[in-house]
This record gives sequence, structure tokens and C-alpha cells, in this order.
Amino acid sequence: MEKVILIKYGELTTKKGNRNYFVKTLTKNIENKLKDFNVLIEKDLSRMYIHYNVEDEEAIINKIYEIFGIHSYHIAYVTNSNMDSIKNELIKTVKLQNFKTFKVETKRSDKSFPKTSMELSKIFGGIVLKNKDNIKVDVNNPEVIIHVEIREKNTYIYYNEFNGLGGYPSGIQGKGLLMLSGGIDSPVAGFLAMKRGIKVDAVYFEAIPHTSLEAREKVITLVNKLKVYTNDMNLYIVPFTKIQEEIYKSVSPNYVITIMRRMMYRIMSALCEKYNAKVIINGESIGQVASQTLNSMYVINNVTNLPVIRPVACLDKLEIIEIAKKIDTYNTSILPYEDCCTVFVPKHPIINPSLDETLKEEEKVNYEEILKETIDNTFIYKNEKNYENIL
Ligand code: ATP
Ligand code: MG
Repeated sequence: MEKVILIKYGELTTKKGNRNYFVKTLTKNIENKLKDFNVLIEKDLSRMYIHYNVEDEEAIINKIYEIFGIHSYHIAYVTNSNMDSIKNELIKTVKLQNFKTFKVETKRSDKSFPKTSMELSKIFGGIVLKNKDNIKVDVNNPEVIIHVEIREKNTYIYYNEFNGLGGYPSGIQGKGLLMLSGGIDSPVAGFLAMKRGIKVDAVYFEAIPHTSLEAREKVITLVNKLKVYTNDMNLYIVPFTKIQEEIYKSVSPNYVITIMRRMMYRIMSALCEKYNAKVIINGESIGQVASQTLNSMYVINNVTNLPVIRPVACLDKLEIIEIAKKIDTYNTSILPYEDCCTVFVPKHPIINPSLDETLKEEEKVNYEEILKETIDNTFIYKNEKNYENIL
């Protein structure tokens, strides 16, 4: 009995013009993800079929779960699209299954097939009942749905369903730069941005010696965890110490964070331009801390014309944590290393900064030269398999 993994695409297939690009990108991503296995990928505009070695089945099923752009996938038996072959395959395969109640759902993409889907489901249901003991049909709440998909050449029979991650294939949109701290929120924001097909590279602001190399290592671990969902992810490390010290020295303590974040946004804009990224992505969540009130966001955002995507802006912390656990970043994020923002955090950061006041405070900082130098000195790690050599 020949088996394939049958893949049903995610959302974009409803838009006809984009289908080719969607399928092409998804194929590339699947090939990349399964490059260590001996597989053959067949595809059309609504399905993909992966031929594989049976001993790799479980490993491949787990890997496919990490790929965006897949609605669901199934281990399917393949046979020729003629009635005798389909019936024989059904008889053979149903005996391998374990269930008490079932229904059959037939799909017939080959409309020249001489019976309707409903008629076929009835016939197949009858065959199943005749060839397996102690089972019955339950159309409302069956233990197993037996799918029979009849396509032009081949027919696919499957008894299982694995949920995919959904979203769009990684890289189908342009590039965005993710502000990645060591916290809980920003890795989740990166994951959600990738889910919409954005090619995400990460930017980490560090303030050595106020922050440690362990803090950097933590971010590298997070990058490696996020990399599972994409083909590659670059990490840019911004030496932020000088500008932070300058701000700390010059401005009123309650404006330190507001102005520091404006500097981060300025650097992000410059890096986006330099590396051809179209959007900034970060883990801001409305109201979570002083710099994330609407007033703060307004004043901070004011330094850039780029779209700023905040995937977790409207999620509760518990909802963010739930995703962080699902994508396995949570346990790393809660490790107790300091972040450049927390090191310089004043006792009473302003909750509702005004733009006028912010500009006045900012005038006290001589930042242009330092910003330029900071951008020039940003380290870039491109597509490295492991980051061990960085430190
Ligand atoms: P997180 O849990 O992601 O650290 P947070 O709740 O601690 O977020 P802030 O520290 O105010 O919030 O940061 C808000 C966002 O700004 C972060 O989610 C992240 O996107 C970005 N950010 C903060 N610090 C850094 C940093 N050192 N490097 C890069 N991005 C940062
Ligand atoms: Mg943080």
C-alpha cells in the first residue's frame, strides 16, 4: 500500500493570482525543512503530496508542523482513480484502523467520475460496514471520518487529520525587522509576524557592560527557537551603551525611557533602510508598562514613518504566555538576565509624556553622531547555523 502525506494549503489559495507564488514558496520551504529526508514532492494548485520512506513518517509529520501556510495534513493511501481500485484499497486499509463509529466523506475533483459525491459516500460506507465488525455509521459525531478524495489520476484515502500552523508561507511578504529583547513578548510578536509570511530578521539592543553576555546568549537562543519556523533569520546586535549613557546623563529621569525608545526607533528605521526591510515589528502590548500607553506610543512612534507592527498589542499577558509556551520560547524568556531597558529604568517613568516636553528633553542630548556610530557598529550575523562563535 502506497502512502503519501497529503497537504492542504492555508488561506491564500482563495486569491487566484497569488496561488502560484504561494505554492512555489511553500514548496521551497517544505523542501528546505525536509532536506535531511529522502522525499519527493508532487503538487497542484490545491494540494501537495509528499512521497517518503515509511521509517521517517513520524519525524516528517513533526517537522511539517513547523511550516507556515499549511491548513492541515494527512497520511493518505494512494490508489488509481477507478472504482475497483478504490474499493479494494478501502477494504485493505479499513482493517488497519481502530474505531467504532464513522462516516465517509467523498470529494470528487474529477467531475467526469460517473457518480455524485453523496452516492459514492453511501457506496463506500456500505463497503466499510461489510468489511469490518462491530462498527456503525454516525453522521453527527463519528470517531473517524473516512475521507476519499478522487482526483483525475489518483485517489487518496485517509483516516486522520493533523492541524497545520496556518498562516502564509514564510517569506511570501517582504522583510521586517523584529525588536527582540530577552522578554516574553517579543519572540511571540516575531512568531505571529512570521505567520503572516513576513521574512523576519531580529535586532537586539545591548548595553555591555550594564548587560551581560549571558543576556546576549539568551537572545541567541530565542533566535534559534524562532528559526524553526523560517528558513533563516539574521540577528543584528546594536551596541547601545553609549547612547543610553548619554541619555541617562542628560535628561530628566522620568523621560529617560521615552527618549531611549525614540532612539531605538530611529536606529530601527535606519537599519530597515540599510537592510531593505519595510516594517518594524515589536512586542509592545497596550498598557503593559509606562512606555506602552497610547500617549507613549504616539510620542515614541513619532520619529519614524515606517509601519510599526505590534502583533501582541491587543493580547492579554496570559494570552501571550500561552503562545510563548506553545512555541517553546517561554522557558528561555523567563531566565533572569537583565535587559538594557530594565538596567536604566527610572523609579517613575512618565506614563503620559507630551510630545513638546519630550522634544525639549531630547534637545539636551547630543545624539546625531552617536547614533551614526551605533548604526555603523551594529554586528550582523548572517544565516549562521549556530551562533557559538559570536561571543
Ligand atoms: P518583552 O517581554 O518582549 O521584553 P516588555 O514587556 O519587557 O517586552 P519593554 O521592555 O518595554 O516591554 O519593550 C517593549 C518592546 O520593545 C519589546 O517587546 C521589544 O520588542 C522591544 N525591546 C525592548 N528592549 C529591547 C532590546 N534590548 N532589544 C531589542 N528590542 C527591545
Ligand atoms: Mg523587555
